[in-house]
Amino acid sequence: MAHGETDTATARLSELGAFLRNYPVKSAAGHSYISAEPRATPAAPALPYNPNVENHIRACAQEITQHTLAANPDAGPLPDKVAAYYDWMRENTAHASEEDQFRAEVIEYRQWLEHCLRAGDNETVRKQVRRQPCPACGCWGLMWMRELREAYCTNTECTDRDGFSTHLSLSRLAHAHVTSRRNLRQARAT
Ligand SMILES: [Zn+2]
Repeated sequence: MAHGETDTATARLSELGAFLRNYPVKSAAGHSYISAEPRATPAAPALPYNPNVENHIRACAQEITQHTLAANPDAGPLPDKVAAYYDWMRENTAHASEEDQFRAEVIEYRQWLEHCLRAGDNETVRKQVRRQPCPACGCWGLMWMRELREAYCTNTECTDRDGFSTHLSLSRLAHAHVTSRRNLRQARAT
């Protein structure tokens, strides 16, 4: 799912995967998470091996696999190449329930935000947050807080039961984003 022309969860995950090109990751079952195939264009400046990136990709792969297989037990194994993960999930949930398709979209968008943050790109996430109305009050005053990895609503009337300003996790932001995107799609189709 494109969030810009070329800025997709697939592109971001592939960038992260390129960090690990020289360190193929294998699961206990011998499944390779990261393709060791060389790319046509050389990867950006060599970055040191980073176990956090490896863990991040493993966690994403696991979430994609779990959701897809729960929605469609006939999906088969997750492809080896990280660049094929999201296509695999989309293709294999295309005939799943509306709820499972929605959840797949939320996972992809949330993981895209997580890939951005993992790569140190706070700015893209901040811009995405500013582009989204608050799901609690509908105002356009969401602010991104890098340290907490959360957004909060600047509308002083928009508070929780204890009077604290509304805070939104990445999951809740993704849920709200996909909901508005679907509403927009529906409105255009009618
Ligand atoms: Zn609000």
